[in-house]
Amino acid sequence: MARGFSGVEDASVEQESCPCGTGQSYGSCCGRLHRGEAKAQTAEQLMRSRYSAFAKGKIEYLMATHPEPQVPASVRRRELRAGCRQTRWLGLEIIRVERGREGEVEGTVCFVARYQASNQRGSLQETSLFQRRDGNPTGEWLYIRALD
Ligand SMILES: [Zn+2]
Repeated sequence: MARGFSGVEDASVEQESCPCGTGQSYGSCCGRLHRGEAKAQTAEQLMRSRYSAFAKGKIEYLMATHPEPQVPASVRRRELRAGCRQTRWLGLEIIRVERGREGEVEGTVCFVARYQASNQRGSLQETSLFQRRDGNPTGEWLYIRALD
């Protein structure tokens, strides 16, 4: 079932458990970040909120939290839309977090994300590098790239 592409979500979606697996409702977990009501305080929070954004097709959030100045926005938007449509994200497990807390400007998060694409299930394991914008200790967290 496709959902989230309209940009309009009703209250029941806000009550659903968050895709990132914290056990909180989407509305009070990653939903707050997606709506711009709060910023990720740690690299792990940004990681979780980006996973949830993939699960819910929050394209603009994915673009805003991952700078890719060499790729035109229209191309990125199209690729992200296609990716979100073709992939159903089934669960996230955080394996290891290094640094990336308040007062720090860089951190890594190792995770496994399970998904279904077409009729095949798979899992993606990645160690992601996160940095604060401009290396500023109060700057927002950004996803930079995969390390492995
Ligand atoms: Zn969440």
